[in-house]
Amino acid sequence: METFDIIIAGGGPAGLSAATELSKTHSVLVLEKKVPGTTSATWYTYADRVAEHSLEEAVAFSSDHLHFVAPSYKHDMKDCCVVLDHNKVMQIWLQRAKNNGALIHHECFKDYKKESDGVVVTTDKGQYRAKLLIDATGRSKIVEQNKLVRRVDAWVIYGARIQVPSLERPTRIEYYPLNDDNNTYVGVHPYNDTETNFYIFKGQNNTFGNPSDLKKQFEDVLQSEFPNAEIIQPLAGSIPSGILKKYALDNVIFWGAAGMLNPDGCGMGFNEILRQVKPFSAEITRTFKANRLDQKALDRVAKSLRDIETMHFQRIIGAFSLYFIKSEGKWDGGVRWLNAMGDLSKYWMRNEMSLEWIRTATLKLHKAVPFKESIKMIPPNELLFITEQLIRFSFSAFAFNIKKLFLFWKPAK
Ligand SMILES: Cc1cc2nc3c(=O)[nH]c(=O)nc-3n(C[C@H](O)[C@H](O)[C@H](O)COP(=O)(O)OP(=O)(O)OC[C@H]3O[C@@H](n4cnc5c(N)ncnc54)[C@H](O)[C@@H]3O)c2cc1C
Repeated sequence: METFDIIIAGGGPAGLSAATELSKTHSVLVLEKKVPGTTSATWYTYADRVAEHSLEEAVAFSSDHLHFVAPSYKHDMKDCCVVLDHNKVMQIWLQRAKNNGALIHHECFKDYKKESDGVVVTTDKGQYRAKLLIDATGRSKIVEQNKLVRRVDAWVIYGARIQVPSLERPTRIEYYPLNDDNNTYVGVHPYNDTETNFYIFKGQNNTFGNPSDLKKQFEDVLQSEFPNAEIIQPLAGSIPSGILKKYALDNVIFWGAAGMLNPDGCGMGFNEILRQVKPFSAEITRTFKANRLDQKALDRVAKSLRDIETMHFQRIIGAFSLYFIKSEGKWDGGVRWLNAMGDLSKYWMRNEMSLEWIRTATLKLHKAVPFKESIKMIPPNELLFITEQLIRFSFSAFAFNIKKLFLFWKPAK
């Protein structure tokens, strides 16, 4: 039986980016059930993150802002944003991983069995042995079989890359409501004057969602907005976020969407993969060297990628923003909330939040929403969690200030 250091199940952006990094120091096999190096997703991201991964040649479009439109408000999120040609990104990673010696097989991962010193992986074509299995299958069977999901929400997306004689809407990265009551929005990721990724998406609680539920709605909106569009490539999927009971098992770690890496309501899955793939791979290499691939050690690796204060803040903010959502319509509410944060909003979307930022953003939010009213809007099932987290947050903010005081305090000579 062929043996590898690492088998990666799933050759999506999470699997291929990790394969690119990890194949520099380990023997790696990637198993992808579809044609390796392809995807049905599309990504906007940031120029600095693209530069960090030397993906510049895959940039299709650049802009200095993301444009959020709502019925009564709009928000220009100033940042160095880019739209990537998703097909090119996948090909670049595929080639880099191969050049480093990784094997990429068009093969479907079926199951695995734990052995004393690793795992035996079964596919539709055979069996392989490895010390570590990285589950990057997007929606993981292992997670579901072991009932590891504690809570899941998802952005569910259906759309296409389209070509039109000329784009009538301005060519910019844009999000606008399709049906506010139905919580459905439109996303535009342009390439140029005649080509764009165009999709609709919907936030859903307590489910991974089903993209094909949105197919009919997408076809209708495409017909009304771009009657002459030619579909170049269908795009569909979902971006789960939430909490797992465990982010790893002995010799297995969940990565990317399988590990619900996307923080609640922001960051977006691909962006978070770009942000975390280098630290993730470095931590995996370290645990490998220490020969610690047990559940506890791997869970620590996964948790090192998730700032607990930030994750909790996302959920608190989610509940607070209900104030806007319930009072003025969902999309208006969300955009008002972004406006309240002003130029700081980009750190929320990037998921780059320091404790300092959280404090400032919370104060700004309270200027826009009276505290008494926002408290009333918190759903009863979140009340306990939010109270607990606010106490935790106050303690850590207090500890942070005390630490700062000591750092600046110089004893008199
Ligand atoms: C239309 C669309 C637009 C998006 N826009 C953005 C955006 O602008 N910015 C952003 O940051 N994120 C965006 N996302 C989200 C982002 O694409 C996902 O978060 C990201 O794709 C998750 O990557 P992943 O590799 O973890 O999972 P996936 O992309 O789901 O990849 C999983 C891979 O595993 C393979 N696989 C599954 N099961 C098996 C098996 N049993 N054996 C072998 N292979 C298997 C699948 O075929 C797939 O290739 C968008 C998603 C969609 C669909």
